[in-house]
Amino acid sequence: MQTTTAERSTVAHQSAGSSLLRDAMAQVRAAGERLGISAGMLKLLETPERELAIAMPVEMDDGRLEVFQGYRVQHSRLRGPAKGGVRYHPNVDLDEVRGLASLMTWKCALLDLPYGGAKGGVTVDPSTLSKRELIELTRAYAAGLTPVIGPHVDIPAPDVNTNDATMGWFVDEYERQVGKFEPAVVTGKPIALGGSEGRGESTGRGVAHVARQAMERLGITVKGATVVVQGYGKVGSDTVRFLNEMGVKIIAISDVSGGLYNPEGLDIARINAHVANHPKHLLEGYPGEDAEQISNAEILTLSCDVLIPAALEGQLTIDNAHDIKARLIVEGANGPTTQEAAAILAERGIKAVPDILANAGGVVVSYFEWLQGLQGEHWKLDDVRARLDDRMRAAVEQVFERADAESVTLREAAFLIAVERVVAAAKLRGYSSAES
Ligand code: NAD
Repeated sequence: MQTTTAERSTVAHQSAGSSLLRDAMAQVRAAGERLGISAGMLKLLETPERELAIAMPVEMDDGRLEVFQGYRVQHSRLRGPAKGGVRYHPNVDLDEVRGLASLMTWKCALLDLPYGGAKGGVTVDPSTLSKRELIELTRAYAAGLTPVIGPHVDIPAPDVNTNDATMGWFVDEYERQVGKFEPAVVTGKPIALGGSEGRGESTGRGVAHVARQAMERLGITVKGATVVVQGYGKVGSDTVRFLNEMGVKIIAISDVSGGLYNPEGLDIARINAHVANHPKHLLEGYPGEDAEQISNAEILTLSCDVLIPAALEGQLTIDNAHDIKARLIVEGANGPTTQEAAAILAERGIKAVPDILANAGGVVVSYFEWLQGLQGEHWKLDDVRARLDDRMRAAVEQVFERADAESVTLREAAFLIAVERVVAAAKLRGYSSAES
């Protein structure tokens, strides 16, 4: 039987959730060993604090009753309320959500935000649902999560296939359930409902700024540097926008429908106009004269200065790591590189800025949105951007310095800093107080 591209990418993704979890745990274990933490403390860091699985009945437009499966995993609240996005995707399962929740703990600690880590997901392809069905599903999910979330407990946000509109429906249902105004229960809301200026662009802006800082550190001239971006959703498209403004040459981009390539640089404005008019906002059908069609597998192995995977996990694997030709990888997506691939790339001298640093801009501005929600404030865009840039710059400096000081990779350095901070919080709370 013929397999379509969409089916192939689903098959390739199927084991990615459990490998993401395994890889996140391996990073924590390696950092733990280097820091000399006890087996008990390691167990505390590895074990999710709370997991919720819910069934959500939704009446479909044709009158059928459909039951969807949803999850929320609070990995850790040692440093503050749990924080993390909500993903709608057919491949969502408990292992994927566990792995992503764990990454949020380390990301928030690395950026020194007063949060633990969480993640949520619904097993669904939202492109097959009508708007009414999507609102009903989101309401059912929010109602199911209400007993375990709150502005000082666990604060969801958008992730893959969810956006500010989803968060608007979510906050409305939560407020109905608890009977009071509570905008700080989610971030990434529409601005008119208490969202922050600059939240939508924040992850991409962070990725672009981290990429520039890393290029400067590695002696790659930013102006004219060749950049490839896989994934053209919220993160990928904003990353491209900000990098384009910095004068890099975007030579290839892709989304679930395939990719576009021009070694002389793509016409981003023209591509954006096409995507804006496409019914599903895809690159598919872009008139080809100034760009060659390229597959998602091919895009990853193009010759370029910087490769930015910004789609899904498990893209750089043992199967393609030897063929990657980029000088620098900046992980816009969560978990795009498997542990085996990371080792091969490190061996080959290719620097990789890890996800927990590179894509942390989103949770940083989520933190700003949360603060604004708690205080009834609304900050100006320039303020938000300046504060975001400062936080990201400081974190990048810390990671590069730690990597130099301990002769480890940027990923290892990032995990050392993050794990150290979570362990410190655990000890101050009285866990393993006998340990030094
Ligand atoms: P999105 O749904 O807006 O975009 C995802 C993009 O990936 C789309 O362009 C989609 O077409 C593409 N895609 C899907 N499957 C693909 C495949 N098999 N091959 C190539 N492209 C494919 O999601 P997003 O919010 O941009 O998230 C992208 C990544 O960034 C995820 O790993 C997410 O966890 C991570 N992330 C998102 C945020 C955020 O604020 N949204 C923050 C931090 C990290």
